[in-house]
Formats: sequence, C-alpha cells, structure tokens
Amino acid sequence: MADTPKLGQFPGEFVHVECRKCERAGRYRTRNLVAEHGPDFTFLQFRAILQKTCDRSNDVQRLNEACGVNFPDLVPWLLGGKRNLS
Ligand SMILES: [Zn+2]
Repeated sequence: MADTPKLGQFPGEFVHVECRKCERAGRYRTRNLVAEHGPDFTFLQFRAILQKTCDRSNDVQRLNEACGVNFPDLVPWLLGGKRNLS
C-alpha cells in the first residue's frame, strides 16, 4: 500500500471497527470523524487512538495480548472502491 488511507477519502457513511481481542465492535459516522480530526486523519492514526482505549492494551497482566482492532471496510474499499461497501 503506497499511501496511508485517509478518512477524508473514505466513501462509506460509516467506518466499522472490530477488535478480535477485546470483542469491541462498533461503527463511527465518517462525517463526524472527519469533523473531529480533519480529512487528513489516517486510518493508522485512528487505529492508534482506538488501541489506547482498548481493555486489553491497558491491562498490564496481558501486555502480550495487544489490541487487534481493525477496520473491516478498509480492505474491500482499497481493493474494489466504492462498490464493495455496504
Ligand atoms: Zn481491543
């Protein structure tokens, strides 16, 4: 991946977020994220913020169970563009 994808480029109405470790799952309205962080805010930066608030990442007993937060929309979007988004 040459460029880090930015939230301002993301065409979906929502950004879905899942973590396999802490079982967090949810969605954020893309427009609200851009309003808060700006269009150049990248998915990697967003991921870092989510990891900081992950139950697993902040539990000293479980530091080797790093947060597995990910964006299930991201790969279909990067591979196929808008039409792969629900
Ligand atoms: Zn997590």
